[in-house]
Amino acid sequence: MFCIECGKEDEELFKGLCKTCFAAGNSLIHIPPELEVELCAHCSATHVGDKWMETGQSEEELIAETIVRESVPDEDADDVVLEIDLLNQKGSILEILVIASGKVVGVPTKREYKLNVKLNRSVCPECSKYVSGYYEAVLQLRADDRSLESDEIQSADEIIKHQLEKLFPKNRMAYLSQRLELKEGIDYYLGSLKAARKISNSLKENMGGILGESPRLMGRDKSTGKDLYRIWISLRLPFFQKGDFLTHGEHVGQIIDINGRKITIQDLKTMDKTSLSWREYSNLEVVARRDDVKITTVTSKKPTQIQLLHPETYQPLDLDILPRMSEINIGDQVEVVEIKGKIYITPPKR
Ligand SMILES: [Zn+2]
Ligand SMILES: [Zn+2]
Repeated sequence: MFCIECGKEDEELFKGLCKTCFAAGNSLIHIPPELEVELCAHCSATHVGDKWMETGQSEEELIAETIVRESVPDEDADDVVLEIDLLNQKGSILEILVIASGKVVGVPTKREYKLNVKLNRSVCPECSKYVSGYYEAVLQLRADDRSLESDEIQSADEIIKHQLEKLFPKNRMAYLSQRLELKEGIDYYLGSLKAARKISNSLKENMGGILGESPRLMGRDKSTGKDLYRIWISLRLPFFQKGDFLTHGEHVGQIIDINGRKITIQDLKTMDKTSLSWREYSNLEVVARRDDVKITTVTSKKPTQIQLLHPETYQPLDLDILPRMSEINIGDQVEVVEIKGKIYITPPKR
């Protein structure tokens, strides 16, 4: 037997050819001469088949991946690897050199191909929603019976920003499309309802308050015939703030902490700390604000009584000594608050 191409004898033959001639006639891989890659101009999403996918890859990686995906190795070729180089770029057309190497019946083989890749830049559906100001939910931050304080707005802004940064890599709709400052509070327009719910829970967890949710009918989707709803989520911060004074049953206390689960108050007489659940919210009454705290001086101290000057009238005032007052000495400055005509020394700050 001999090779029908080169005439070599005593060789193992493949389809009538010796190894060398057989490998020489093999193309290793079949690459389309023209390819298109559709990319989002705003993010790193790419259009594959009939879907947009967020790949997180660079443009070069996306092009290489498309070439690999659209190429078919020859059935007689093994271990085919591609080296992809950009030769030239004219506008949106990239001229690409592909060097394929592999083995054909054990013979190392190399081939070079040139192809044109057209880059189509468009806008993926998610970015087009963002660009058009699309939103699924509005988160309304309010305060009950009072205006929001600037430090509350600042904390909410920070929590929302942080949460969006955390959610965005997995949820492309986790964006803030609009933030409106109104007389009654702040409205945050959010691309994703799921993200809006997570964010509102995290705000409540940090700042306390009462959450509510209500859908609003916005019209009808012409293509599906379904009603279109947007969800309004409201977080009403409590009418009190940390440092304010509350009555709770017989007790008068200062609020020392507020979070999503409870309100912690410190009793002004016993210094005991009590946690109140949000279920008791409607039974609570503010009796003094944190700004009502005044400073005054201790003028005398007896075994059972301590005397200080009323912060406004400067009249001497006798208070029964409570266990916590043992550390207070004559001449000390103390913080006091007047509640229902009675002066209390406030709990020491930690
Ligand atoms: Zn041959
Ligand atoms: Zn995009």
